[in-house]
Amino acid sequence: MATKLVKRENLPTKLWVDNEFKEGTGATVKLVNPKDASTIAEFKGASEADVDNTVSISQKAFESGPWASLSGEEKGVILNKFAQLILDNASEIAYFESVCSGRPLAQCNYEIPRVASVYRYYAGWADKIRGDSYPPEDGFYKIVRQEPLGVCAGITAWNGSLHFLAWKSAPALACGNTVIIKPSEKSPLGTLAVASLIKEAGFPPGVFQVLPGGGDVGAILSSHMKIAKISFTGSTFTGRKIQDAATKSNLKRVTLELGGKSPALVFDDASLEKAVFWCTIGIATNAGQVCAATTRLFVQEGIADKFLAALKGSFEAITKTLGSDPQEMTTTYGPLVDKIQYDKVRGFIEEGKKSTEVIIGGEEYTKGGYFIGPVIFKNPSEEAKIYREEIFGPVLCVRTFKTEEEAIQLANDTDYGLAGAIYTQDVNRALRVASKVRGGTIGINCTSVVGPQVPMGGFGSSGYGRELGEYAIRHYTETKAIWINMN
Ligand code: NDP
Repeated sequence: MATKLVKRENLPTKLWVDNEFKEGTGATVKLVNPKDASTIAEFKGASEADVDNTVSISQKAFESGPWASLSGEEKGVILNKFAQLILDNASEIAYFESVCSGRPLAQCNYEIPRVASVYRYYAGWADKIRGDSYPPEDGFYKIVRQEPLGVCAGITAWNGSLHFLAWKSAPALACGNTVIIKPSEKSPLGTLAVASLIKEAGFPPGVFQVLPGGGDVGAILSSHMKIAKISFTGSTFTGRKIQDAATKSNLKRVTLELGGKSPALVFDDASLEKAVFWCTIGIATNAGQVCAATTRLFVQEGIADKFLAALKGSFEAITKTLGSDPQEMTTTYGPLVDKIQYDKVRGFIEEGKKSTEVIIGGEEYTKGGYFIGPVIFKNPSEEAKIYREEIFGPVLCVRTFKTEEEAIQLANDTDYGLAGAIYTQDVNRALRVASKVRGGTIGINCTSVVGPQVPMGGFGSSGYGRELGEYAIRHYTETKAIWINMN
């Protein structure tokens, strides 16, 4: 029998501290539904005193609470139960995620089993964290241990809050750390709804806490002397600040999952249908508010006219339904997250229109809500802002290429390196190009796919460190060498 604990009428608008909801004492967080700019709720986020209190509870739970003495298997049982509770409460969690972020409810629903599977995956890891040993050939027996770091904080962006929550907390907990998550002030409700299941899952008090609030809360966490690690998902701009704060405080470990300007390369021999489908996903998912969105499209000359006509048709279908209610299960394309993001993206579009041909889109949507339909710009100059900067909206730049070498050169002409996609039916070319495109995740005939076993992260200005898979385990443990004198 499913345990339904999350209820739509109980807005989770508090801090989750020491296994209960507590009123915050910090700045007011105002939540707005981007489909019509209506206010959802206003509540107090965490203050500096709340952060200090939460960190000291977390530290105590790490050092002397029951979590430290649970076996790996016992931790795994809790993580598995948590995954099941998330599944049991999926529709309500998805609603809370959709209502603040504007992401279509159907997509949020689709996401929940993927979030649960990350906890299940790391439940399996909890009793498999091991070290090494070396024989006493030199008179010393050597043991190398992987030990938890301590209090780990995760700071997340609004565009995939539940994914980021799982990617950061699940490996950290499996390794025996305690965790504090700060969700974006734009969309904290889904994360807080999940937090309400922490106690029922069996996590001891103080092990897994959530502090909603603005960027100031993230800044306090980043410079906190008692936090051992920050894992951040967000903009490159904020990522630099976090790294700086970590350096200036206690040199805490930092993992940065930042922005991107990812390329999609469509070769003449690509399956037109597949390439159009995935290139549409690559820019239209979440109205382009996806870090790995393939926003620079390079098409080989022989297929360019046919491909662009088909892509335009695919975008027209989206444009026809623009303005649909994201909280209806049939809606596949929602608004941008808030007015700030809307104005920022519109600014890019208006500037782009002055110098670059528009194939589709670009008009303002005037019926209310922060909706922007997908836009295709053709042949922007190499210096154009729309071509070089991350827009984080549904804006695609298209150029053509003649040769494979030229395609690779175009793809790599960016400081970012988060992802990329290659469309071709020639497996040799696919693998050759995949090895040359600089990016943490390369899709062949697909894009923006993630899974618990496979690392996710960037090259260059897209950050460093990896989330998911065995790779994340390395970021949540510290290596200790123990020498035993055998003489
Ligand atoms: P931001 O960088 O603005 O914010 C991310 C998080 O950091 C939020 O929780 C934010 O709080 C917090 N924050 C803001 N200022 C500070 C600070 N000084 N110190 C510590 N934390 C702070 O990004 P967005 O939320 O606007 O997300 C969009 C960006 O995230 C895009 O650039 C996108 O590319 C990137 N991104 C990267 C992903 C990846 O995996 N590589 C995935 C998703 C997004 P608050 O929101 O409350 O102000």
